[in-house]
Amino acid sequence: MEIDPAVEKILMDITNNEEGSVSIIECILNGKTFDSEIAEETEIKLNTVRKILYKFHDAGIASYKRTKDPETNWFIYSWKFDKEKVSDIISKKHQRNTEDIEKSIKYEEENMFFACKTNGHRYKFEKASEFNFVCPDCNDTLEYQDNTSRIIELLKEKADSKSTNKLSTEIKYIE
Ligand SMILES: [Zn+2]
Repeated sequence: MEIDPAVEKILMDITNNEEGSVSIIECILNGKTFDSEIAEETEIKLNTVRKILYKFHDAGIASYKRTKDPETNWFIYSWKFDKEKVSDIISKKHQRNTEDIEKSIKYEEENMFFACKTNGHRYKFEKASEFNFVCPDCNDTLEYQDNTSRIIELLKEKADSKSTNKLSTEIKYIE
């Protein structure tokens, strides 16, 4: 079973790029759900496997069932991976990203900008007129800056973000 790159990214983010994060989840998806089994299969130390699994647990994308091993009388842990929760996380992330871009577009559209030719610093009209259109850092003139291309760039980003979000809601776990 393969894991979608977007899901891999979330897994790595959650564990702070802990090596083996993805293979552990792959293992669970392949039906090896006991931590000892996972450690054996992935050749990752049992303690590390547990540490990673608890990070997924804290993030709400993995859960476990504790049972007593009838032979040793020790507790054994069987793990489950919540695919829907991960899709949710990805979808929310894209949604937030889209909202941020929308805010930037609004900001660009509602304001007029003046920029210094020397250091490129940008000021809103109100600020620039306060400075009498002279850069407070280098005394160069602040000139009107057409932000149309910036807005176009942002609109493109927004469209991209929306289409990836669409994709993420139908994330595939290829079998
Ligand atoms: Zn300047």
